[in-house]
Amino acid sequence: MRRAVFTVFLALLAFAGTARADDFPSRPITIVVPFSAGGPSDAMARIMAEHMQRTLGQTIAIENVTGAGGSLGVGRVVRAPADGYTVGFGHLGTNVCNGAIYNLGYDLVTDLAPVVLLPSNPMIIVSKNAIPARTLTELLAWLKAKPTPPTAGTAGAGSGSHIAGLYFETITGIKLQYVPYRGTAPALNDLVAGQIDIIVDQTSNSIGQVRAGTIRAYAVTAGRRVESAADIPTTDEAGLPGFHMTLWSGLWVPKDTPNDVIVRLNGAAVEALNDPAVQKKLGGLGLDLPPKDQLSPEALGAWQKAEIAKWRPMIKAAKVKID
Ligand code: ASP
Repeated sequence: MRRAVFTVFLALLAFAGTARADDFPSRPITIVVPFSAGGPSDAMARIMAEHMQRTLGQTIAIENVTGAGGSLGVGRVVRAPADGYTVGFGHLGTNVCNGAIYNLGYDLVTDLAPVVLLPSNPMIIVSKNAIPARTLTELLAWLKAKPTPPTAGTAGAGSGSHIAGLYFETITGIKLQYVPYRGTAPALNDLVAGQIDIIVDQTSNSIGQVRAGTIRAYAVTAGRRVESAADIPTTDEAGLPGFHMTLWSGLWVPKDTPNDVIVRLNGAAVEALNDPAVQKKLGGLGLDLPPKDQLSPEALGAWQKAEIAKWRPMIKAAKVKID
C-alpha cells in the first residue's frame, strides 16, 4: 500500500515537472510541417527552427506529415500530448480553409492553441516555359483558348495553391484541372519539367525558379510589388485588379498546453523574427514579417477567427471536391 502511494506520489511529481515551463524544454521538440520537404512551409519552418532551437537550448526536429491538404499533419498535432514538445506549423489553408472542406474530426479553433503568427507572402501566377505568353493578359488568352482545361498544380484540396486557384477561377472564369501533390515542392518540379501548365503558388516557393528562368512569372497577388522581385507586376497592374491574396502562416500546439510553455515557444519565435539574419533569409524568399503588435498568441487566435469568417463562405460556395 505504502509502495503504491509512493509510486503515485512519484508519478505526480514527474507530471508536475513536465508541465512546468522553467524546465521546458528539457528534450527535443518536433515541429510538424503538413507539406513536403523543400516546399515553402518547410523552408519557413526550418529557418524559424534553426534560430528557435538556439534560444530554447534544445534541438528542434522538423517532421513532414503530408497529405490531404495538410489536414493529416494538423491532426497529428491535435492528438499529440499537450506538453509543448509537438508544435504544428500551419497556414491559411490548413488552419482556416480546411475546416470548410474536410470532415476533419477535430476543430481548428478549439482543439489547438495559437502560439505565434509567422510571415506571409502573396501568391504568384507562374507557368511552364513552353506556354508562349509573356504577359498576364496573354496568359489568360492562352488558357481560355486551350481546348482542354489547363492543369494547375496544388498541394491538395484546401492548400494555399488550391485556394488561390479557386480564387483565380472565380475572378477569370477559367476552369482549371487541379493536379494535387503532397506539397508545392513536387508540384514545382513538375512545372519546371513542363508536366503541368500553371501554379498559383506561394511567391517564396517559385521565386528561385523564376529567377533561374526555368518557369515564367506573370503577377503577384498583392497591391504592391514584392521587394525581392520588383520586376514582377502586381495583379492590379497586370490586368486582374483586385485579385489579392496573402498566405500567412503560424504555429499552434494542442489545446490544454500550459500557458507558460506557450509563452516560451512564442518568445523564442519572436526572437527569431527579430533577428536580422533570419529577416534577411525570409526577405530573400519574398516573405513579409508580421506586424510587431500581432505577435502574441492571442493576436494569432483573433486573426485566425477573422480569416475563418472571411474565407470559409467562398470555400463553401466553391463546393470543393476532395481528390
Ligand atoms: N504551403 C504548401 C507547401 O509547403 C503549399 C500550399 O499550401 O500550397 O507545400
